[in-house]
Amino acid sequence: MKLHQHFLRSMTDENIKAFIVCPYKLYYEFIDKKKSPVDWKQIVQQVINKVVYSYYQLPFEQRNATKILSLVEQFWSKVPIQKFESRIQFYTIAAKMTDDLIRYLTTETNPTPPLFLFEKFKANIEELDVDLSLTFDVAEWSESSFVVKKYLVEAKPDMLMLYFYLTIVFSKKVFKKIPEKIEVITILDGTKHTYTPTPENMEEGINYLKLIKHLLGDSSSFNELFTEEQCAVCPFEQVCERGARKGTENNYLS
Ligand code: SF4
Repeated sequence: MKLHQHFLRSMTDENIKAFIVCPYKLYYEFIDKKKSPVDWKQIVQQVINKVVYSYYQLPFEQRNATKILSLVEQFWSKVPIQKFESRIQFYTIAAKMTDDLIRYLTTETNPTPPLFLFEKFKANIEELDVDLSLTFDVAEWSESSFVVKKYLVEAKPDMLMLYFYLTIVFSKKVFKKIPEKIEVITILDGTKHTYTPTPENMEEGINYLKLIKHLLGDSSSFNELFTEEQCAVCPFEQVCERGARKGTENNYLS
């Protein structure tokens, strides 16, 4: 019961993300602390984060496509090819990631460095009785605007919704302001998802997070929440006892 209570009172964006992908994954990754082999998507995400971080650190006049190419080369050269399904996949993903990073980063026209660059914040959300942690990848703040950006390998609609509401609730609690714009760039499909939050979204966000907290605490619903389609690419596929757990879910987090 101790771990269960801890998880319901102190949540991170990574915990909730794992829970949305699959409740059992959350269990293996953060509670049972089984070592998960790093998969290629995590590796690509790490490279994207490093390129974005390094790029925004540059003086504005040095930000260009050539610089992005050299940053990608610098970080991609350390990526182990054997983590990918094939050599073709390794090179195809590298080309796609490079194209999209160039396409989106070179269109950034704000010469002022972001106020936050991959900074983690923690806040108490009293409506939920939860301490919540969230990393802001890129946040641009001026007197007249507040824009939050994230560069992801990929994101399904439920993940985009999570990020949208987490950002709004968090921004309001920590900065007393909701972002004027939230942008999520998903590299593998080359899409920019742009949202313009409204004050009403704050209440929706609180209700959404209440629902997540409720589902987290109700392990009897876990069997309805996971989908087999995730299992094929899950790093816990070899150790997962989802079948054996059927009927014993109430003890899962206790
Ligand atoms: S193998 Fe399937 S059910 Fe098990 S943790 Fe992974 S995604 Fe979830």
